[in-house]
Parts: sequence; C-alpha cells; structure tokens
Amino acid sequence: MSLLSVIVPCYNEEENVAYFYEELLKQESTLAEQDLTLEILYIDDGSTDKTVEEVRKLREKDERIHLVSFSRNFGKEAAMYAGMEHSKGDFVVIMDADLQDPPSLLPEMYSYLQEGYDSVATRRVSRKGEPPIRSFFARMFYRLMKKISKTEIMDGARDYRLMTRQMVNAILSMKEYNRFTKGIFGWVGFKTKWVEFENVERVKGETKWSFWKLFLYSLDGITAFSTIPLMIAAVVGVLFCILAFLMILFIIVRKLIFGDPVSGWPSLVCIMLFLSGIQFFCTGILGQYLAKTYMEVKNRPIYLTKEEF
Ligand code: UDP
Ligand code: MG
Repeated sequence: MSLLSVIVPCYNEEENVAYFYEELLKQESTLAEQDLTLEILYIDDGSTDKTVEEVRKLREKDERIHLVSFSRNFGKEAAMYAGMEHSKGDFVVIMDADLQDPPSLLPEMYSYLQEGYDSVATRRVSRKGEPPIRSFFARMFYRLMKKISKTEIMDGARDYRLMTRQMVNAILSMKEYNRFTKGIFGWVGFKTKWVEFENVERVKGETKWSFWKLFLYSLDGITAFSTIPLMIAAVVGVLFCILAFLMILFIIVRKLIFGDPVSGWPSLVCIMLFLSGIQFFCTGILGQYLAKTYMEVKNRPIYLTKEEF
C-alpha cells in the first residue's frame, strides 16, 4: 500500500471542513482498489472561526486526520508549503476546502501517475459563476505571463495537483519567501499531465480572494517569475536617446536653413512631464524588485505554527 497525503488549506472554512471530509471519503474505496491509503492534513491559515475545532472533532473519529494551525493568516501559499513539509505520503495532493477541486477526479489522476507521470495538474476550462471582469483580468494576466516569463504558467490552472514525493521534495527545496506556487510547479519541471474540468462553484462560505488581493498576487507572480519589467527602463532609455539625437539633427538643420526665433515653451513642458512620468514609473518597477529582494534577504520563516497534531 502507498500513502496519499491530502493537503487542505483552510482559512475560515468551518462549514466546509467536515463536508470536505465526507466527500473525500466517498473516493476511499476506489483509491483502496488502487492500493492507496489516505492521510488528511488540514492547514489552518489563522482562521478566526471554528475551523480548528471542526478539525479536532474529526480527529476524535479518525486518526488519519492532522492539523497544522498557523499563528496568524500567512496566505494560501504558506499553507501549501506547510502541508507539503508535514506530509508523509508517497504521493501528495493539494485540494481546496470548498470542494472546488472535485475529489472524484482523484482515481483518474492517480492512474496517470502509474503511467509514469510525475505530476497530474488540473485546469478549469470554463470560469462560469465568476464575475466577468475577474475572468477578463485573469486571462490578461496569463497572456502577459506567457510573454514575459520563461516558466510555463497555464491559463486556468488550479493548485489542485497530485505529485510524487520526488517532486514535492523539489518544491520544498525552494525556500523563497515570496511564493508563487503556480510558477514554482512549472519551474521544478518533471513530467506533468494536464486534466481539464468544468468550473465548480464553491459549496459554502465566501471566496477569500478580493479583486485587490488577486491583483497584488498577480504582481507577486510577475516579479517572482520574470525580470523583463526591469528591462523596460533600459529599453525606454535607449529609445529616447535615439529620439533626442534625431531631434537635435532636425533643430540644427532647421536653424541653418531657416533661422529660428525662440519658441516652443508648451512643447518643452509636455516633454518634461512625459519623461519624468516615465522615470517615476521605472523607479517604481525597480522599487518592486528591491522590496522583494529585501524580504528574501531577511530570510523570515514562511509560516509560524501555533498548534499541530
Ligand atoms: N485560503 C487560505 N488562506 C488564504 C486564503 C485562502 O488557506 O489566505 C484557502 C481557502 O480556505 C480555500 C483555498 O485557499 O481552501 C482557496 O480559497 P478560495 O476558495 O477563497 O479561492 P477561490 O477558489 O475563490 O480562488
Ligand atoms: Mg474556492
């Protein structure tokens, strides 16, 4: 028998903890036929509701349930990392507590691992039930990432992923503080099979991601997996030098041929404003990377534990 560790990041998911457990157990017999036993790790990401108590109740019934509870909200990225660190399984899968990652896919996903893949990833092909504006920006983000990052990041990819121990260890060896797991999965490589499914709406509770939180997360993704924005300053600088050179030629020639009284104050102001705008923008980009570097250099722990069993 092999052990499958199921990692469930939970942030205020009191309504879903038990429900998720029941739904997962429906797959237990099928998985047992595939020689798999289960271990379930709930990672409480500093919930302020009864998530921990709910997990404790389950634990009284079932020894295979484990909890890692954070001292505060560290974010889903940290929760996934903690889960992988505490998992003992030969295989590891990450699943959302809200059942947006259908457990019914597990047996099929595992069958691909047996065919020789190192990881089975999922992506949703539709985004039904999501606000259109959010889908639009999500799609823009993935298109941009494809252009500016060498690491493959799939549109609609979920964090729902089944991996071998070897791949999990590779991910654990990446101890960066600014974690963007969707990129990390791609960066470590290994053979990945993609499984597609239709978007499922969250069963209970509210999404924990506001538009703003997602926007900041996308900036994290860009700075973590691409340094192209840093080149913008250099490229724009060169372009403006060329432009300035052409202007100088033009002005000298015009002066020599036509002679020229002093004029052009408004255009001068426009040019100055435009250029200082670009300068601030580029300094801002530099600042972003500097801030990320600053956080990495501090080498703070990715999460802090308050309780675990
Ligand atoms: N989550 C977490 N920490 C956070 C935010 C979310 O552990 O700071 C968990 C959450 O409990 C859920 C999963 O991450 O199990 C996905 O969150 P959510 O369903 O809110 O995101 P969505 O599916 O809307 O993208
Ligand atoms: Mg969800």
